[in-house]
Amino acid sequence: MVAEKMRDPEKGERAMIEGIFEGSPDAVGVAVIRLNCGCRKMAAVSITGEPASKILMYRDQAESICDQCKKDNGDFMRVTEQFIKWNDPEPAEEMKKEISAKVLGVTEQ
Ligand SMILES: [Zn+2]
Repeated sequence: MVAEKMRDPEKGERAMIEGIFEGSPDAVGVAVIRLNCGCRKMAAVSITGEPASKILMYRDQAESICDQCKKDNGDFMRVTEQFIKWNDPEPAEEMKKEISAKVLGVTEQ
């Protein structure tokens, strides 16, 4: 098994996150929501916890999202993981908690 031949499923995700940061100068982070089908939902987040971009949906190595997502628009019931990827320099811990709570509806990460 050659390591470099293994596809890194997070590579496309990281590229997307960088693209969102580039297109959203006000963003302090990007909310990443992973769905059980392999598709992702992402949106830039401002310092006040408001969306700083529209919500993007994408599927790694595919031209479009899957049929399930087209139907339910990535229902939250199918979320497997969600987190915020913070921009550098990251906001203070307190601020991060507040933003997370607002964006993801959770107080702990
Ligand atoms: Zn999907």
